Amino acid sequence: MHVSRPAPLPLIPAQVIGSLPRPAMVRDLLAQRDVLPRGEWQARMDDCVRFAIHLQQQAGLDIVSDGEWRRTQYIHEFLLRVGGFDRCRRYQHQGESRLGLVVVRRMRTTDPVLVRDAQFLVDNAQATTKVAIPSPFLIAVRYWHEDYSREAYPTPDHFLEHLAEILAREAHALAAAGVQIVQIDDPALAYFCDRRLTSGHTIHDERLRRDWDIDRQFPGAVEAINRVSAELAVEVHLHCCHSVSKRHSDVQGAYRPILSRLSGLRVDQLNLEFAYPDTGDVSDLEYVPEAFRVGMGVVDVRRERLPSVDQIVALAQQGIDRLGAQRIALNPDCGFAPDAGEPPTIDEAYTKLCRLVEAAHRLRSRCDALSSGAGRSDS
Ligand SMILES: [Zn+2]
Repeated sequence: MHVSRPAPLPLIPAQVIGSLPRPAMVRDLLAQRDVLPRGEWQARMDDCVRFAIHLQQQAGLDIVSDGEWRRTQYIHEFLLRVGGFDRCRRYQHQGESRLGLVVVRRMRTTDPVLVRDAQFLVDNAQATTKVAIPSPFLIAVRYWHEDYSREAYPTPDHFLEHLAEILAREAHALAAAGVQIVQIDDPALAYFCDRRLTSGHTIHDERLRRDWDIDRQFPGAVEAINRVSAELAVEVHLHCCHSVSKRHSDVQGAYRPILSRLSGLRVDQLNLEFAYPDTGDVSDLEYVPEAFRVGMGVVDVRRERLPSVDQIVALAQQGIDRLGAQRIALNPDCGFAPDAGEPPTIDEAYTKLCRLVEAAHRLRSRCDALSSGAGRSDS
């Protein structure tokens, strides 16, 4: 964990959360992963990922990812590479019947699974690099079930503990590969912001039907993240969002109920959502513990509508007014396509990212003008 930002970053850096929409040809290539010879598949995907990196740099972003184009879904890719999961659990999600992954065997603890992807990003990006991994709590909540998982892990806590160990090793391997920012994705923490969900009143995802107890569960979630970030010699972000599924938020609610509970967390920055209705409220920022910077979600990834640069600037300025420009970065609310099949097009994402970058430039100029004005009045 670093206190200061990686060297080349400007004031109010513009960043992605992680995923970019996969064009149809990338989705076709993902579907051919087990059909094409391994080397040929890798070479074709490498060409695609080079394009995803260039697209972000062309938009002017300060922090880029590989678009997560090698992943069919932001959690599943990790689980399938680690092993121990089968797609055998039927559940309801937003009224659709799905067959989902669940842990059925102990996970393998051989080599880290995302390092080649990370190395490729580091070798091909000029901007600061970021790789996201799913949080141990998120995986424990969604992929342990008493009917399938007890032989592998007697309780969710046993599963959580092993996940923290595996993810810590993965995070250290990413840092060793030269990645400058490791982001831990934990939309499950936002479940505690949604009283409809935790009271069992409205369950959009049957996997989340359980007894929710923030006093009992939250400290374990924080401790597991701290095991991942411990002694990590790079910047660490925690991304807390309200989940995206086909242009809808899975979860609702401002961040206030969880922010003070994050005070023991050992990360540098929280990446939160403010652009989409019923996610974060800018007044939440007053409750962010002082140790953290905030990546403000100022571009809505769910609605197709393009925000104006003025709208982005106005929202971000409210964060700067509360925390100061030194503690603010700008990003879209969430990844544009946590699942390869999410509906936004790559052009929609690119246009939104260009506007995000322009807003960051305007705010930087405004801060520069204010500080040089203050300098004059001091003299
Ligand atoms: Zn997200």
